[in-house]
Amino acid sequence: VISVSEALQLLSSSFSPVEVEEIALNQAAGRVLSTDVESDVNLPLFTNSSMDGFAVKAEDIAGAQEDQPVILSVIEDIPAGSSPSKRIGEREAARIMTGAHLPEGANAVIPIEDTDQYKPRSRSESLRLPSEIEVYRSVSVGDYIRLEGEDVKSGEVVITSNSRLRPQDLGFLAMLGISEFSVFRRPRIAILSTGDELIPVGEPLQPGKIHDSNAYTLSALISRDGGIPEYLGIVPDQERAVRESLELAVEKDADLIFSSAGVSVGAFDFVRSVIESDGELEFWRVNMRPGKPVAFGNFQGVPFIGLPGNPVSAFVGYEIFGRPSVLRLGGIRNPTRKSIQVEVVQDIRSDGRESYLRGIVHSKNGEYFGRLTGHQGSGNLLSLVQANALLIIPSGVKSLPSGSKVDAWLLEPT
Ligand code: AMP
Ligand code: MG
Repeated sequence: VISVSEALQLLSSSFSPVEVEEIALNQAAGRVLSTDVESDVNLPLFTNSSMDGFAVKAEDIAGAQEDQPVILSVIEDIPAGSSPSKRIGEREAARIMTGAHLPEGANAVIPIEDTDQYKPRSRSESLRLPSEIEVYRSVSVGDYIRLEGEDVKSGEVVITSNSRLRPQDLGFLAMLGISEFSVFRRPRIAILSTGDELIPVGEPLQPGKIHDSNAYTLSALISRDGGIPEYLGIVPDQERAVRESLELAVEKDADLIFSSAGVSVGAFDFVRSVIESDGELEFWRVNMRPGKPVAFGNFQGVPFIGLPGNPVSAFVGYEIFGRPSVLRLGGIRNPTRKSIQVEVVQDIRSDGRESYLRGIVHSKNGEYFGRLTGHQGSGNLLSLVQANALLIIPSGVKSLPSGSKVDAWLLEPT
């Protein structure tokens, strides 16, 4: 029996990223970059106005006030998307829209609100370019101007490799004009459910049978972490069937195989023995609760994680060992999990193993408080359905009085 941290240590050195592929920007949400992205443009691309107003020379309107307006002649209209054709001379201005290219000679923008043009008027009236404007206040050089390159300089690394692309990253890549780039391909993750008692959901139950639920939980977890789940079905408790199913996973080029159940010490638990005979077994028991029987090794060279059969244990085992493995395969370098400090509001008993208990956490005045979601049997999946967190009771702890602080993982939709 090894500790959770020893097991994680072993796993962390066993997974490296899969190959890369080219992807189009519109397909890239949630994918993991395999190279640094360097900008080959300045951002902003050109110096432009940050307001609707008039491009001016700041010195021309230095003394302008509401009751002492400065009059400027308007020489040009610069709508967004156009390019100025004239240079601003003394006492001249050009009407300019937000985002439009600042003309030569101008060094500031006076917002339309600070001129006589800011009056509720008809659309046709406001479309007409005035020949003169009255300006009611001064501005400083640089006001309401976004300078070329002030956000990003050409040549700068703007997004680093091995990061998962978020919505704002995608918009930013579009800003840079990058429509195709390399990402890690999504790892292929095989799932097999072992057990003579299992019946596919949708088919009628018979005496002593239950529906295979782990496959659904695991598929969704794998998708969440960027993998492609490949469910290989229910495998009977027979050595040959287990071997054939693992061989199928190898044929399908799985990057990692998950099984649930059959790694314990029961008379019909064949998974472990097949891994031992056709691969290598690194460990098969971890000092934790729920889910002590967790196996890790490889089958014909393909990494294998054997999760416990009990539905809560399978989930917890995946979160602890599966998640970082799938993330590493997908190109995430050091997968970490944010934990929060929670004050428990009830006495909690544990058995000295590192325990991951189902809880409900709420926050009050910036602090987190947690309680358990009823009975913690590892077959009671409702305790996990009602939970929004796993409360982590460290190893060696057997009782925890109300008011103690523990670490917790939030189980939020991601
Ligand atoms: P085992 O690891 O084979 O001893 O199974 C432990 C418990 O998990 C038993 O109650 C099994 O019936 C249950 N179990 C095993 N596989 C699944 C599955 N795929 N879905 C739901 N429960 C399962
Ligand atoms: Mg079984």
